[in-house]
Amino acid sequence: MADTLKTLTCPACGKTMEKVFIPSQGINLDICTDGCGGIFFDNREFDKFDEKNEDVSEILKKIEGKTFAPVEENLTRVCPNCGAKMVKNSSSIKQTIQVDDCYACGGKFLDNAELIKIREEYENNEQRDEDILRYVYKNIGSELAEQEAKYANIGGRKTFVRSLFNKLTGL
Ligand SMILES: [Zn+2]
Ligand SMILES: [Zn+2]
Repeated sequence: MADTLKTLTCPACGKTMEKVFIPSQGINLDICTDGCGGIFFDNREFDKFDEKNEDVSEILKKIEGKTFAPVEENLTRVCPNCGAKMVKNSSSIKQTIQVDDCYACGGKFLDNAELIKIREEYENNEQRDEDILRYVYKNIGSELAEQEAKYANIGGRKTFVRSLFNKLTGL
């Protein structure tokens, strides 16, 4: 999906979100700079910022050192881009951080500070996925290992691993 240019309303606190252009990636992010400090990523945008070696300085400039309004993180949220109900998913097998995913448009909403915490979890996404696979094998066994081996390319494997994870955690 293309970068949305419309102004978004924060799904957590209802304030108008600020469009922040990220020159290094050539994309706009929506950040709730006047409210709760949440960040909305369009489909696939989050992949550009979730690993430690990826640059988030332009995002941090907007949120670091500021005090943001507290929000209720457990409420079901509505996607600010398409209006669908968002689904809470763990960012990893560690299950310490919950993010809001929109299955309709692929958007993702992170509460203030979650971006930093998610980046601290693993060195990179390969390690994140390996952790999921270890969990899967331990809990379901070799039958799925065979299926997984069929996915020769990284993209297909990644999608498969994530779908297993979502099924297992049931979040
Ligand atoms: Zn907000
Ligand atoms: Zn959506």
